[in-house]
Amino acid sequence: MSESTKRSPLTTAVHGGEPRSYPYDALAAPIAQTATYSFANTEELIHYFEGRIERMEYGRYGNPTVALVEKKVAALEGVEDAAAFASGMAAVTLTILSLVEHGSHVILFADCYRRTRQFVTTFLSKFGVTCTLVPPADVKALAEAIRPETRLVISEAPTNPYQTVPDLEVVAELVRARRKERQKIYSMIDSTFATPINLRPCEYGIDLVVHSATKYLAGHNDVLGGVVAGSEALVSLVRDQRHVFGANLDPHAAYLIHRGMKTLALRVAQQNASALAVAQWLEQQPQVRQVWYAGLPSHANHDVAKRLMTGFGGVVTFDLHSDLKGTSAFIDACEIPRIAPSLGGVESLIEQPALMSYFELSTAQREAIGIRDSLVRYAVGIEETDDLIRDLAGALRKVG
Ligand SMILES: *Cc1c(COP(=O)(O)O)cnc(C)c1O
Repeated sequence: MSESTKRSPLTTAVHGGEPRSYPYDALAAPIAQTATYSFANTEELIHYFEGRIERMEYGRYGNPTVALVEKKVAALEGVEDAAAFASGMAAVTLTILSLVEHGSHVILFADCYRRTRQFVTTFLSKFGVTCTLVPPADVKALAEAIRPETRLVISEAPTNPYQTVPDLEVVAELVRARRKERQKIYSMIDSTFATPINLRPCEYGIDLVVHSATKYLAGHNDVLGGVVAGSEALVSLVRDQRHVFGANLDPHAAYLIHRGMKTLALRVAQQNASALAVAQWLEQQPQVRQVWYAGLPSHANHDVAKRLMTGFGGVVTFDLHSDLKGTSAFIDACEIPRIAPSLGGVESLIEQPALMSYFELSTAQREAIGIRDSLVRYAVGIEETDDLIRDLAGALRKVG
């Protein structure tokens, strides 16, 4: 183990992947705001194309500020390489596209991110890629779903809104066993909710880990971005797709994400502690029917989460003894969290899934897919825990 891999995530978040000095002796990372790069003369150009020198060529193929984001994510995940994209969905879709072809079969847990599911079930199916959705965290069903033509197994942890955590050691082992038999199959995980502070999936044998950097990595609700991390061979496969699709992270957005990541470990530690306290407190309240948080012993995947993760993240889901209107009144009575989709930033955010992601459905249709009108998703920010709980207590009093 090298010196730097023994370091705490607190230190890696600040220094990971960075050179000791930047141009002009600047301490902060420079924003290389350029679309292309110039060559001193034709000889340099020839040397570059002969692979004798390493340098940048054109903005779609690389940018130094974007590369800093990639190196820091790779350092935090403890892997060889990472590639950054314009959004989390660009990272997810291009990673999947890199690993499948016509005739391939993909397996995903049914509660993975809605747009990922949409991409696999409706978009990829147009190109002859089939898929199987297995029940949340059900690794037995996953094992049974694997076929000779299965190329990719997609996990997510913890999931939205019910915070399921599949046993990633089992997932990785199932995939690796098939690979030993020369099947071209890989595992990937959307680890956005966990962050590399709480979970490093590649340590358990998962091949590729994807993040929406929009959430915890950037952490300030002010920028979109995505990353994929893993072995150099697999990441460069995905990076090559970026050359074609052009879903590049902008240098200025990269700067914001890189700057945000400096405080990632601090922020996530506070969010872990607050979310756990909020979840424990909510579980004691008579107005609350149920709480879903993988850090609670009452959660179905608590034992798996405890074994794999060092913290359980900042999102708490709960259900009130109330209806659509009463739940909206509770949300409106909260004075600290803002009503917004997304999570992982410094500001606490609150939402009623029935009115956010599932607005087009009727109450009955929502119940059929397990989304009650009284469900609330609370994405804890970095405010003082006691302030958040006092605020929730005040709002709960209005539910009656
Ligand atoms: C937000 C999110 C995405 C999509 O990321 P964007 O940056 O919005 O494109 C994917 N997966 C999960 C789990 C997310 O929360």
